[in-house]
Amino acid sequence: MKARNAFLNSLLMVLILLVLIFSPVLAQTSEEPLYRLNINRDFGYGAGADIRGLFTLRIVGPEDLASVSYFIDDQLMTEVDESPFTYQFNTSQYPFGSHDLTAVVTNTSGKKFTTPARHMNFVSPEEEAAGMKNIVGPIILLLVGIMVVVGLAQFAVMRKRNPNGVAPGTQRNYGYAGGSICKHCGRPTPRHIWGFNIAIGKFDRCENCGKWSVMQAASYEILRAAEISEQTTESNNPNFNEKTDEEKLRELVDKSKYV
Ligand SMILES: [Zn+2]
Repeated sequence: MKARNAFLNSLLMVLILLVLIFSPVLAQTSEEPLYRLNINRDFGYGAGADIRGLFTLRIVGPEDLASVSYFIDDQLMTEVDESPFTYQFNTSQYPFGSHDLTAVVTNTSGKKFTTPARHMNFVSPEEEAAGMKNIVGPIILLLVGIMVVVGLAQFAVMRKRNPNGVAPGTQRNYGYAGGSICKHCGRPTPRHIWGFNIAIGKFDRCENCGKWSVMQAASYEILRAAEISEQTTESNNPNFNEKTDEEKLRELVDKSKYV
């Protein structure tokens, strides 16, 4: 069944390709309309055939125009006999719903042509709002999705990279965004590409203590000195390392006893 579907799919692809390749040839043999009616949005809403607002009708084709009559549902909108032969209208001048727009073009040699009808749908403000939701909704969903993925990735990276913190004194590679000295624990930490850039630095998370602060990139010398001083600080102070999660939890439980 699956193999058959794959076969049908590839057959369809080949057919589409053939149509695409030969359609210009076919188009040349059939009689193409000389003039086409263009509908340009000046102000308002447009999504496919759904439109609402101010639009300009324009003729595309040979420039030997003498006059153009614009029609909506076979009813004359206006007749224009001056260049650029355009007509501006507002959809609110007509009832909501579907309308066929056409133009009858008279060229300088007196020949008349009718443009192919453009099927438009003049939408109400309510329909426009619903349509906008259809456009904006998926974009918001996509953004939220990206934020969730980035958040999860950050979480995964931090857990992987920092199970118990980097050993004091380790010479680190601070990477692309450089390193900084944490204001909370005083230890050097890499700045992350995903940190929030604000005017005075990066709002970023310390890999040692996990606290957030604004970090300015520190020079290599300062970072190296901080790495070395970590070592001495630790040898002097056995409690230098941040408490483990278990210790934190125990502390919290202890505190809650007195509440
Ligand atoms: Zn820190």
